[in-house]
Amino acid sequence: MGIKVVQRHGKSFKDKLYLPAIAGGMKTTITHFFKNLKDVDNLKTMHYPEVQPTDITDRYRGVHRLTKWEDDNTEKCVACFMCATACPADCIFIEAQERFDDKAEKRPKEFKIDLLECVYCGYCVEACPCDAIRMDTGIFSLTGTKREDFVLDKKALMSHERSKDFSND
Ligand code: SF4
Ligand code: SF4
Repeated sequence: MGIKVVQRHGKSFKDKLYLPAIAGGMKTTITHFFKNLKDVDNLKTMHYPEVQPTDITDRYRGVHRLTKWEDDNTEKCVACFMCATACPADCIFIEAQERFDDKAEKRPKEFKIDLLECVYCGYCVEACPCDAIRMDTGIFSLTGTKREDFVLDKKALMSHERSKDFSND
């Protein structure tokens, strides 16, 4: 009653041979190969990293930075742990300490982000109540020879600047 029998693909003799399907796939590949060869300028790929992309939008998320107060160049972060709590990858590590000036009650003694765990979701930026962390550095590729190279500490995060290619504030 009301049962629709769907024919399974791959049961015919032609399907079981596989060769027609392979030939069909090769035909598509070879067609594109010669089409692209005739019109190299229209290729959608580029010789990265020799050629860098130029059409990255302001909303693109790169490596993080910790923002600083303009008057004394200290971190705006108040070590509230909101970013670490919001982080789905659990890759932000903060150690708080007391702050003895009029900027805030606390500051991060250490602030680390493990970029090998980070999924670049931007939740940390959204969660921060102080605009203390941003992902507008324009650094999209990072290389290293060991795991530690990808764990950025407070000094590294504070050394990053906003990319001049980003127009938003
Ligand atoms: S971008 Fe996402 S995954 Fe990466 S540190 Fe921020 S919240 Fe965590
Ligand atoms: S970066 Fe922002 S959310 Fe994270 S601890 Fe500092 S002030 Fe809090």
